[in-house]
Amino acid sequence: MIEHRDAGESTLTMRNYACTKCGNKVYFENVTCLACRSALGFDDALLTIVALEPADEPALFRRVAAGGSASVRYCANAKHAACNWLAAAGDGNGLCRACDLNRTIPNLAEPGSLAAWQELERAKKRLVYSLLRFGLPLESRPAGSGWLAFDFVRDATTGHQDGLITIDLLEADAVERERQRQLFGEPYRALLGHLRHESGHFYWTLLVEEVGLLDDFRALFGDEREDYGTALARHHAEGPRPDWQERHVSAYASAHPWEDWAETWAHYLHIVDAVDTADVEGMEPRSQGLSFGALWPFQRTDVYRGEPFATLMSRWIPLSTALNSLSRCMGHGDFYPFVIPGPAYDKLAFVHDVIRRSS
Ligand SMILES: [Zn+2]
Ligand SMILES: [Zn+2]
Ligand SMILES: [Zn+2]
Repeated sequence: MIEHRDAGESTLTMRNYACTKCGNKVYFENVTCLACRSALGFDDALLTIVALEPADEPALFRRVAAGGSASVRYCANAKHAACNWLAAAGDGNGLCRACDLNRTIPNLAEPGSLAAWQELERAKKRLVYSLLRFGLPLESRPAGSGWLAFDFVRDATTGHQDGLITIDLLEADAVERERQRQLFGEPYRALLGHLRHESGHFYWTLLVEEVGLLDDFRALFGDEREDYGTALARHHAEGPRPDWQERHVSAYASAHPWEDWAETWAHYLHIVDAVDTADVEGMEPRSQGLSFGALWPFQRTDVYRGEPFATLMSRWIPLSTALNSLSRCMGHGDFYPFVIPGPAYDKLAFVHDVIRRSS
């Protein structure tokens, strides 16, 4: 007998797509409910979209039927249509928890910068949402102190250094991104993919190096003491290792153990977010490979916190296959244009365990 938890029981940890005033389906980026016209905002404490009603003071709101009596306001970046998250009414800089991580935003006086930044923020919100769902440390501290921060700038090299993630604004240009994708022979290139990848470098230090998991890491990914600059130069000059498809989630992952980790981390985040979203949308195909006695329909666990790795993958494989078919019938390429070989599966399991240990 399969037991299902009450839908309401896990409201605070499961992605909730309903307007808290009228119950209409809403989405992560929405600012208005199309049914009842309520203002909507994302509450980073409840990790959900909530309906808002005006409070006594201008620009302040109360959350409708979502608990918490304190007034809230929109993040200061809402005025640029760059954010729909909420900030506490008394917050000094008026920024939400995600925008507070920004160290540099583009010069909005330059043509094209606003649209690029809005797209970057949309992708960053999804990353920060996932990090919060995992319960990972996410501190907003003065930049340079090693905590997570973002620079969104022009003519920069996309990358990570001591907690600072830099994204070149050009990556928000769809034409340029596609040109780069083809230039590097990548099957997939997306802002969210960059952000997830770069965040992996940050969390490697916190969740692997600083907690004494280097031996376990090296047994799977190789020795990261291999000279990083030389390894990347070799990758760019000679291309990926010939056997990369047997050991890595992507060609770039074969460049250096740190890149392997960051690529694997990004894929783990892709997978968890996709399975969680499919769960909420009620669109998972029945797995062909479920062993006798496996649960179907799957129990509604919090995919970010409660799902065993093997179960997560037993959901992801049929889901990604189905999504690839759907994508192809619209004439697009594969939704998930990757094959996960055995060693990469083990690396994903390691990422899973490392995240679980910390949250
Ligand atoms: Zn509504
Ligand atoms: Zn914000
Ligand atoms: Zn990297």
